[in-house]
Amino acid sequence: MGTGPPPVASAPDPAVVQAMADSRERVLATIAEAAARSGRPPADVTLVAVSKTVPPDRLRAATAAGLQLFGENRVQEAAAKVAEVPGARWHLVGPLQSNKARRAVELFEAIESVDSVAIARRLDRLARETEPGRRLSVYLQVNVDDDPSKAGFAPHDLEGNLPDLLGLAGLRIAGLMTIGRLVSDPEQARPTFLALRELSSRLRSAHRGLEPGLSMGMSDDYPVAVEEGATVVRVGRALFGERPSLAAPGHG
Ligand SMILES: *Cc1c(COP(=O)(O)O)cnc(C)c1O
Repeated sequence: MGTGPPPVASAPDPAVVQAMADSRERVLATIAEAAARSGRPPADVTLVAVSKTVPPDRLRAATAAGLQLFGENRVQEAAAKVAEVPGARWHLVGPLQSNKARRAVELFEAIESVDSVAIARRLDRLARETEPGRRLSVYLQVNVDDDPSKAGFAPHDLEGNLPDLLGLAGLRIAGLMTIGRLVSDPEQARPTFLALRELSSRLRSAHRGLEPGLSMGMSDDYPVAVEEGATVVRVGRALFGERPSLAAPGHG
């Protein structure tokens, strides 16, 4: 087709948009039912569509279907996608290395995975430096189950660090985040979610400035998380389908 400039991204396939709209509706209905069981309006819960491994063309279909807030777990992957998906907003949900913090501050509306005072300080400095007056929204990741394989503040460490964290003028501490244990029955994740909610309310009664956000729940357990008070759920596979297995032959 000639030698002109490359075409702008073509309009998304209507069948793909419809399929995305259907899964969005399904997940939102499940959230609304779980919220009702905990006596809350559905609007209390924000759906973050976790889009890791999902290519930009499908994400454009997702935005056409009404999903606008995406979660990525790697800064580099997000950096490659953000410009390709106009109108989307992005949260970082995966671990952040300090050498990627500057890029992260540029790309993300919120960092849900702040797991150390050092990274919080760096984000604070970068947020104030790049946009005076900005308060970057962050969630403090808590390793509720004291799982050695997981990132996050140990619950007993968080309280001691909280005054320092709340003093960082470039950050808005929107709440706490946790990743539930890998369990076969979603009910088994409930104690983790309950513990995060109780930790949040205990800390908030003693420390002004910690906001009540609770980011918890993924595809397998988000209804339970919403019942236990989640204000943010991070849902990938229930919206986009199974991810390609990293262990698949030929990967990389
Ligand atoms: C991948 C991921 C999710 C979403 O997981 P699904 O099981 O696909 O819903 C949520 N949170 C974090 C931190 C993730 O890395």
